[in-house]
Amino acid sequence: MNVPIPLDDDGYLRRECPTCEKQFKWHHGPINDEAAAALEPSEYFCPLCGVPAGTNDWLTKEQIEYARGRAIPDILAQLSNETGLKIEATSDVPAQLTEPNDMDIVQSPCHAYEPIKVPADHDQPLHCLVCGTAFAI
Ligand SMILES: [Zn+2]
Ligand SMILES: [Zn+2]
Repeated sequence: MNVPIPLDDDGYLRRECPTCEKQFKWHHGPINDEAAAALEPSEYFCPLCGVPAGTNDWLTKEQIEYARGRAIPDILAQLSNETGLKIEATSDVPAQLTEPNDMDIVQSPCHAYEPIKVPADHDQPLHCLVCGTAFAI
């Protein structure tokens, strides 16, 4: 089941750290050839607290709710098709998620090809998404 999560106008995807539960954004997809050539990591480091987590562990609570709400009618529709039974969804389908163009773009000195966006009032230092190295801006 694939529920599209919107990006902001700069192509950034909102993320929530499973450890500190703060939100930031990472760039969705490679920004240049260097990024495209880099190995796909198995985990990313939280820019705000520096704790790593698997690459699929960063959905925000809103994205999880949205994905659940959107997926249920699709699953029921698929069931209806397969079984011939008419199954109506009882819950309301959530409205399309929107992604505001907030937060500041930051590049780590060590992995500048993986830019992030952090809240304007973030604490220093930040941590590189790729390797976790702390840096100040
Ligand atoms: Zn964190
Ligand atoms: Zn780095």
